[in-house]
Amino acid sequence: AAPAEADLLIGLNAAQEEAVVLPLDAHAVILAGAGTGKTRVLTHRIAWAIEQGMDPASIVAVTFTNKAASEMRERLRALVGDAVAQNLRLGTFHSLGLKVLRRYGHILGFRNPERLSPMDQDESVALLRRVMKAYDAGIDLKIEKPRDHYGLIGHWKDKGLEPQQVRPQKEASRELTRHLYAAYEKEKFASQTVDFADLILLSNRLFRTREDIAKTFQKKLRMILVDEFQDTNPIQLEFIHHLSNTGKSVSTFVVGDDDQSIYGWRGADADIFQTFMNHHQPCELVRLEENYRCTSVVLDAANAVIQHNETRIGKNLWTQRQDVGPFGLSVYADGDREADAVAEQIGTALQQGASPKEIAILYRVNAMSRPLEKALIVRSIPYKVFGGLNFYQRREVKDAMAYLRLTADPRDDAAFMRAIAVPRRGIGAKTIEGWQTAARARGASVFDVVQGETKPAVAAFLHLLNDLRVAYRDAGLVGLAKACVFTTKLDEFYIETAKERGEECVENLRELISTAGVFHHRLRTGGIAQESIAHHPGDPLSEFITEAVMDSDAAVHLSKKAETVSLMTVHKAKGLEFPHVFVVGLEEGEFPKISPFRESNIEEERRLFYVAMTRSKYQLQMSYALSRWKFGREDTEMAGIDDAHSGEGGVSSRFLSEIPSHLFGDGIMVGDKKSLPSPVAINGRLRGSDAGDWW
Ligand code: ATP
Ligand code: MG
Repeated sequence: AAPAEADLLIGLNAAQEEAVVLPLDAHAVILAGAGTGKTRVLTHRIAWAIEQGMDPASIVAVTFTNKAASEMRERLRALVGDAVAQNLRLGTFHSLGLKVLRRYGHILGFRNPERLSPMDQDESVALLRRVMKAYDAGIDLKIEKPRDHYGLIGHWKDKGLEPQQVRPQKEASRELTRHLYAAYEKEKFASQTVDFADLILLSNRLFRTREDIAKTFQKKLRMILVDEFQDTNPIQLEFIHHLSNTGKSVSTFVVGDDDQSIYGWRGADADIFQTFMNHHQPCELVRLEENYRCTSVVLDAANAVIQHNETRIGKNLWTQRQDVGPFGLSVYADGDREADAVAEQIGTALQQGASPKEIAILYRVNAMSRPLEKALIVRSIPYKVFGGLNFYQRREVKDAMAYLRLTADPRDDAAFMRAIAVPRRGIGAKTIEGWQTAARARGASVFDVVQGETKPAVAAFLHLLNDLRVAYRDAGLVGLAKACVFTTKLDEFYIETAKERGEECVENLRELISTAGVFHHRLRTGGIAQESIAHHPGDPLSEFITEAVMDSDAAVHLSKKAETVSLMTVHKAKGLEFPHVFVVGLEEGEFPKISPFRESNIEEERRLFYVAMTRSKYQLQMSYALSRWKFGREDTEMAGIDDAHSGEGGVSSRFLSEIPSHLFGDGIMVGDKKSLPSPVAINGRLRGSDAGDWW
């Protein structure tokens, strides 16, 4: 049975209710800070519209992730019942675009549109690589990297530029990209596939060229609602405009927070609210200021930080909550001790009755999950890397591990096959298969089989394996780990991706080197149980590999538990909330992230930090480390090796100094010892002997 009207309005404050019950044909912007109930208002607005007689099939709601969509559907089930919630069109921009293409793709020339599913980024790059190989004028693939070109093509696509709309480029390489873009589109169409950007781009093209189809949608739809509107980019906006007849016949209801705009690099623009209002006159503007998520100390801290941004619309968040949760900042000697302490605190929270799913650890970059995973594994605390893979399952980490395994045992066929394929060295799949067959026939390893090969590429590979063995002999485990990343040119291979993923891969590879550094250190200081060394006396490499395999297994096992602690990047945490939140790695350079690959946008980094802090419903623990084992550089044996990043770590994030120090009450924690006058530690650079005094 449909609930009474009043039920839908229970649990809404006056401003929220005002937004929910706006006339059903009104356009509205709900512009409000974190935790003020925007998503709740959006959900209740849908229920309200249905309650007022609107057909659920005429409502489209766009969320930022598929998970958010399914959560919203759950909420609505409770509010309006299963049968009704079933008919709603609820999903991400991409999932809605895919629906449009599957339905009408034949008009664009797709033969089996109902079976369309988008290629991921790797598949798209592979397609571009094929295009480049076949390119008439001839391209030297050693100089012109497919991923670079793909990056620029993606950028154009995000801006909604089709090949013929891109202007001739002054720079030769970019001009080549422009031509490749056209060829890529042609080849993609010939193979009857689409990439991710196409889901929206092609839908837009369809709507543009076939007004009748756009009209069909517009006639059916009455209301479009968008959550996290601040991160909508221009082509997504165009998509909404097509569906809504630019708001002439369909009501548009968007909710968002300019302070949480964190996808500037994807073309989203914080002015979007103003632009939207200009296009949808008359438009209601509702502001929500009461926050229901955070404790007052968290809110005070978050408000203080975000006030440092100059480009913001400006809001004032407050809460009625009187309860206080644990709130603190801690400094640790290194990233592993930080991870250990966080896991320890989580263990305590669990013992006190918290459920793992109420706990999240947030970090700026994915590579930071590694020490945290280790600390959780050691304590058998179930966890899951949300929206990503655990450290040892990441492709680039597996690649580097293959080289480590080959160094330990060249007759490890699985490792051989993986390593010879990345980075690509022009050895065809057929050739490699041939070796495998020969090896099987002779009962030998692939390594044995290729000894007789004369191909230069194979000789070079065998030479490389030898270099790795020499690196291990001369420079130990850490030296070998470095060689497995740099001498193999895995780093260059992944850096080719230039954009987001490439950078992340290299960070993970570096983290693997750090892992080797930590391992080596533990080995020397007796941190590793003697009986485990006894298996392989004097062979840290086998020990290291064994431990990696065991950790990887444990990670998979732990992630399958019904309830898990969530580890995730701040980007992934948007819109979510947890009673216990740990934000780690708050060092200058890490958060704000200073990247060698792209200009950093401090205001956007600050918005990210604001998102991170405001995920907390009760406890918020922030921390940073004085060193991060980058490149395993703390290993004294390696100290002489030059290291571009040796300055990293140790300086607390500028954002921490933006939090009024009185909020920290007793001061900050240094290690597990208490209390240091906070300004010193927060602003100071604590290194070497300075740091020594405190632990
Ligand atoms: P974000 O900006 O992070 O996406 P939001 O504005 O969408 O946040 P919600 O997630 O909708 O905020 O709400 C935050 C929390 O406050 C939720 O747990 C929600 O259930 C609760 N909440 C919202 N409004 C009220 C209310 N009027 N009374 C009690 N709790 C509320
Ligand atoms: Mg929300």
